[in-house]
Amino acid sequence: MHNEELGSDPDFRRQSAAEEALVAEAFAAAESSAPDVSQGWILYLDGITVSFDGFKALDGLSLYVDDGELRCIIGPNGAGKTTMMDVITGKTRPDAGVAYFGRRIDLLKLSEPEIARLGIGRKFQKPTVFGEHTVAENLELAGAPHKDVWRTLFARASAEERDRIDETLRIIGLSAHAHRPAGTLSHGQKQWLEIGMLLMQRPRLLLIDEPAAGMTRQEAEATAELLTSLAGRHSIVVVEHDMEFVRSIARKVTVLHEGRVLAEGRMEDVQNDPRVVEVYLGE
Ligand code: ADP
Ligand code: MG
Repeated sequence: MHNEELGSDPDFRRQSAAEEALVAEAFAAAESSAPDVSQGWILYLDGITVSFDGFKALDGLSLYVDDGELRCIIGPNGAGKTTMMDVITGKTRPDAGVAYFGRRIDLLKLSEPEIARLGIGRKFQKPTVFGEHTVAENLELAGAPHKDVWRTLFARASAEERDRIDETLRIIGLSAHAHRPAGTLSHGQKQWLEIGMLLMQRPRLLLIDEPAAGMTRQEAEATAELLTSLAGRHSIVVVEHDMEFVRSIARKVTVLHEGRVLAEGRMEDVQNDPRVVEVYLGE
């Protein structure tokens, strides 16, 4: 059918105007929920304090993360790393402090689902893939707007969705395993699949808790490469206990201790800081 014929069909015109309005609306919504990174940073925490029965898990934590940055957060057990992620994602409300996603979005006024919809994705330590579904299906489900397994898998994925799934499989290094049940993957591969599932939701900021835990040295190296390749397009905060892993990422490092920042800078400088040496040796 030629364009002129389409143009002369009044039904077609009406539909396309409605579609255009929908697209404009979607763009406007995306625009208003996008973080304002005009100052260069995407995440700002200041004076964050969280108390559990009088014990301060976070005690005046302040932190900036630049847009597109890959930041590593290290620190001994109990330093408050996971609690920090709980605050950013709205799971835990601080007693004091501020938390901003870009210049305008006050995270402390938003619920957990609202924060997730803004594009803050979180990966927990334990992988939560659907073991009986294939790797590709897990990605498809993660990218689906409605979380209905049957509707998603029975409706044929569009060409655009297929492309995104293929692209994500390539990024996470699982193209050759696309049609395997996720339950049969190795521990490391499951972790990568879960990162892929987060990517399907197009996050601006990714929070990843101990990605190298339980991995072989080779898997940890591949994970460091994966995270490094994602930086720039995404902002990433990685919490990790494994110093060798953090060294292999070699970006700006923040050391947390007793709920606040003890040191921050390049890994080479931070690991020679006597205060950092002391808290790690004191473990
Ligand atoms: P990290 O992830 O750096 O190991 P966490 O943020 O998990 O540290 O914990 C910081 C401190 O807060 C720890 O001493 C921990 O026991 C305590 N804590 C964390 N969550 C809770 C909670 N829900 N109730 C009581 N204490 C908690
Ligand atoms: Mg933790």
